[in-house]
Amino acid sequence: MNRQNHAGNPALPVCISGAGLAGSLMATMLARRGIAVEVFERRPDPRVVGPVGGRSINLALSERGLNALRHVGLDDDIRKLCIPMHGRIMHAPDGALTRQAYGQEGQYINSVSRSELSRLLLESADAYECVHYHFNTKVLDVDLRTTTLEVRNPGTGRTKRVPARLIIGADGAWSPVRARMQKSGRFNFEQRYLDYGYKELTIPPAAGGGFRIEEGGLHIWPRRDFMMIALPNQDASFTCTLFLPHEGPVSFEALDDPAKLGGFFEEHFADSLPLLPNLSEEFFTNPTGELAWIKCEPFHHGDGVLLIGDAAHAIVPFYGQGMNAAFEDCYLLDRHIDAFTLSRQADMLATYSRTRKPDADAICDLALANFAEMRAHVANPAFLARKRLEKALQRRFPDHFVPLYSMISFSNVPYAEAVARSRRRLGL
Ligand SMILES: Cc1cc2nc3c(=O)[nH]c(=O)nc-3n(C[C@H](O)[C@H](O)[C@H](O)COP(=O)(O)OP(=O)(O)OC[C@H]3O[C@@H](n4cnc5c(N)ncnc54)[C@H](O)[C@@H]3O)c2cc1C
Repeated sequence: MNRQNHAGNPALPVCISGAGLAGSLMATMLARRGIAVEVFERRPDPRVVGPVGGRSINLALSERGLNALRHVGLDDDIRKLCIPMHGRIMHAPDGALTRQAYGQEGQYINSVSRSELSRLLLESADAYECVHYHFNTKVLDVDLRTTTLEVRNPGTGRTKRVPARLIIGADGAWSPVRARMQKSGRFNFEQRYLDYGYKELTIPPAAGGGFRIEEGGLHIWPRRDFMMIALPNQDASFTCTLFLPHEGPVSFEALDDPAKLGGFFEEHFADSLPLLPNLSEEFFTNPTGELAWIKCEPFHHGDGVLLIGDAAHAIVPFYGQGMNAAFEDCYLLDRHIDAFTLSRQADMLATYSRTRKPDADAICDLALANFAEMRAHVANPAFLARKRLEKALQRRFPDHFVPLYSMISFSNVPYAEAVARSRRRLGL
């Protein structure tokens, strides 16, 4: 058997494991350089079978993600998919609403459909002749020594070996590429599940076709130990996500019949009940998702393999940054290719990995901390007063005072630097 390492061989393609959000955007970035790319995706082509379930229906897209999409000229296309969310709209238990702007006038984050975004990215990459998608093709393993992917050939069911100049693992939180790296030496890995899960529910459009609740914000029902949020969709529906502990007195496990579910919503989310006509059916049919974070290091192996997106740093969804960070990975990697060229692949991968790791850790920790902010603090008047003060300070001293949320969501300041600036300001 040929045991030569293929890393850096320009006659071979870059192979990407996973045609999710990061995989397709990275394919486009490489294709713009004329680099041949083979993308392997275990699921069927969503353009043929429609959206494949299992993950959140819509996502909050902010500056880091937009910056990466602008970089490949997708800004006009993406804007057509976005619904601006200017701030949080908090629902108190008695139904009273409080609004909190995310940033300064004109600053907003965007609700975007995962399936529409995925399709846009896929079509963008697939338009290049040098990109080939292989759907229904599961990546089974990676030969780290020879930079070769092992995939299951959907036609024959046999394993096929695909040599690559570079393998990019963009295959999500349960990455098979990372699984192989975990078995290699000096690879650090940390993973934790939250005691909480999530379930998606739908607020359908109003009878006349409009939105049933205000569409210009992200709705939150903060209830201290649990919460529900809702993001608008382009068909005038909202996707609600209920975050509850898996077990315990108030939990998914405890809500085991329609009467208990109805009583629970009556007590905690009464104003949402008339908006959720299919609550019981959806609650007992839709899966309960798991929430976990993953940190690992390094993101690369030698001169031929690299992890990006959730494969490198899966985070909990409470800062709305997982996809944004994954897109930022693509953008930064593309900038590293500019700086190093693919011929100095080992240096490029090592530098990317070393410089990106602190940012990945920073957003992982921020996202965890933001869970408490969303489910508890946003219902606290003192917290809201502090946020108003931060905004007033930013208006007065725009060059000196930018709140942490704004640096994360409305700028491209590296995550770790944003945290450091915020801590310095607090004298920590
Ligand atoms: C409930 C929830 C809400 C979220 N909300 C937000 C938000 O508002 N904003 C935000 O920025 N982020 C959000 N995220 C995070 C976001 O979904 C992820 O960070 C993002 O999807 C990561 O993209 P990715 O391409 O790295 O991975 P994925 O999107 O998971 O794509 C991985 C791809 O790899 C494929 N794959 C896996 N294994 C194999 C294999 N063996 N062979 C071939 N292919 C394989 C998968 O089928 C998939 O297509 C949320 C996540 C959750 C769970």
